[in-house]
Amino acid sequence: MPELPEVETVRRGLQHLITGFRITAAHDLHPRALKPESIAPLHTLNGAKITGTNRRGKFMWITLNRPYVLVAHLGMSGQFLIHQKDRPQATHIRAQFQLKKPLRNLELVFNDQRTFGWLSIEELTNNVPTSAQHIAPDPFDPLFDKGATVKNYLRRNIKIKTALLNQEIMSGVGNIYADETLWRAKVHPEVLTSELSPKKIATIIDYATAVMSEAIKQGGTSFDDLYINVNGESGFFEQSLAAYGQEAEPCPRCGTPIKRITFGARSSHFCPRCQKR
Ligand SMILES: [Zn+2]
Repeated sequence: MPELPEVETVRRGLQHLITGFRITAAHDLHPRALKPESIAPLHTLNGAKITGTNRRGKFMWITLNRPYVLVAHLGMSGQFLIHQKDRPQATHIRAQFQLKKPLRNLELVFNDQRTFGWLSIEELTNNVPTSAQHIAPDPFDPLFDKGATVKNYLRRNIKIKTALLNQEIMSGVGNIYADETLWRAKVHPEVLTSELSPKKIATIIDYATAVMSEAIKQGGTSFDDLYINVNGESGFFEQSLAAYGQEAEPCPRCGTPIKRITFGARSSHFCPRCQKR
């Protein structure tokens, strides 16, 4: 499931490949491709020029020379792919965009096997689209306020893993990077935020930032094979995972087998020796 590093990798690919192109045709090919809250149908984008891209947490958007943007959430398995002749056509295409620049044509598709991803045409308020208004800044956002975020974590008496997944406190972290962050910080996933010191929470934020920034450098994590970049390539960060998905494998720090516990509908991976309750 794409988290901040994967969404950022896709955003950078789009920024590089489609900025400056004009959308000559936009079609949705699946009833759930466009969010019901979209202020207009997808073909409204016909004629718009792409001016850039932006992101907050796991939400990204394409900016246009229009008073609205195209927001995209990759959900579980959403992919943006540039159609290339030598590559087989994607099999779960939900939307299709024909793009044009003088002497150049591109076809961009939104592919989504599990259909939890979506697109939406939205207005910006304070530079953030409607559907991401409730999402807190991620640690890479210039508006991110670390001191206020630490206080916000401390105010809630919840498990630190639950807190890290809460996109309204700090955005971007999902199950993979939460497990990696807590492993690095040597904190048990079920410790309550109220049991942690402000300094320890600040350290956890620093580790989350570091692990996501390393993952961006490696093009993200393609653990379940559903995440690929706009050129159809996988990321390499799964080779650096210390805890997530490593059940029974030795902890890279102490050699103790990594343990998996269920955590609501998901699971948490941690080292029972390095991350004592
Ligand atoms: Zn260990």
